[in-house]
Amino acid sequence: MKLLVPTNWDPDLILPLSRLEAEVQIYGVLPTSMIGSGGRGAENVHMAENQAEEYIERAHSAGLKFDYILNAPSMVNMEWDENTHRELLEQIRWITSMGVDSVTVSIPYLIELIKRQFPQLDVRVSTIAHVSSVARAKLFESLGADSITLDINVNRDFTLLKAIRSAVNCGLTVLLNNLCLYQCPYEYYHHDTLGHASQSYNPLNGYYEDYCVLRCTLDRLWDISQAIKCRWVRPEDIHVYEEIGIDMFKTSGRSMPTERILNAATAYSSRRYQGNLYDILNVITPKVGFGNSDLPGVQNNVIGSLPRLYIDNQALEGFIDFFKKQDCLSGCSHCDYCQRIANKVIQFDREEVDEYVAMLNAYLYNLASSRMFKVKAGVRRHLH
Ligand code: SF4
Ligand code: SF4
Repeated sequence: MKLLVPTNWDPDLILPLSRLEAEVQIYGVLPTSMIGSGGRGAENVHMAENQAEEYIERAHSAGLKFDYILNAPSMVNMEWDENTHRELLEQIRWITSMGVDSVTVSIPYLIELIKRQFPQLDVRVSTIAHVSSVARAKLFESLGADSITLDINVNRDFTLLKAIRSAVNCGLTVLLNNLCLYQCPYEYYHHDTLGHASQSYNPLNGYYEDYCVLRCTLDRLWDISQAIKCRWVRPEDIHVYEEIGIDMFKTSGRSMPTERILNAATAYSSRRYQGNLYDILNVITPKVGFGNSDLPGVQNNVIGSLPRLYIDNQALEGFIDFFKKQDCLSGCSHCDYCQRIANKVIQFDREEVDEYVAMLNAYLYNLASSRMFKVKAGVRRHLH
């Protein structure tokens, strides 16, 4: 199995990953870059370019390939400014000089540019490009993509997965441990905010409000069936995707601590996992920018403590079979399958969840009412 695993740039990841029962590749990006990325990276990572070079060299020495991610969904048109364009080429030259094996992008133009000017790099399409149909997969392949990471929303649409597989020759990758809402309405906006925040020319120096994660966390806790509707894949069900012809699997979570990244990679590479599935999923903790707000529970840019769900992985045996016949895209208003499964396999502390939901609601009110701008000192500190 080919398994693509995120790095938070901790050197302690390299050796254990190289010993897993899979052909592991690592992916990562410096916290700020010219093109930017569409996910949240590890906090407090201050890597210089030469440290990244050393890290990639160490990964290669341990037999691990490295995929550099350049997957912000947009460069706010800076790719068309001559000076910024030159910097963009410089960055790809630097990536190539490190011997990086592949890059992952979302912007279609970058596929063409890299294929024409840096043909030694494999180009992978990011899940952020939302390849969720045969037509889109074929068009991305015709631009030169060597492989495509599918939109997570199609993970349990087996008719579509089979059709995409037979329509394209390029590699196909499925994201395994994502806890994103099924058909998340904030997804496009969220990737935009993260992409712009990670770009070196961002006018706010990377500052943003994590409205999307506050909102999706609230939705998931308010309606626990959302944690089942999410399109994660159990380690035990990977063979279903292999039988279709999916040739690479990817875990997400560049912001996760080392131990959690390793636990997830170990579970998926060994195709089995005993215990709480939630512990190997990419759980994103809501962060708040106006953290000095006078709202209850907000401290150091964190709202209280995110309640931990218990999702019994063993009780989910056979759970995937229902999706082989179900059309979730049109059937979700009159289907209670995920609710029934949630009732059976999820445990949580109702009081703790209610308290946390109240804190999220208070902070979201703070944003929706523009009340946060009344905390002027805090605003000045964040914007300058
Ligand atoms: S579910 Fe949350 S983290 Fe995932 S895309 Fe939506 S807003 Fe972002
Ligand atoms: S259609 Fe049924 S199985 Fe599919 S997401 Fe909705 S509730 Fe779950």
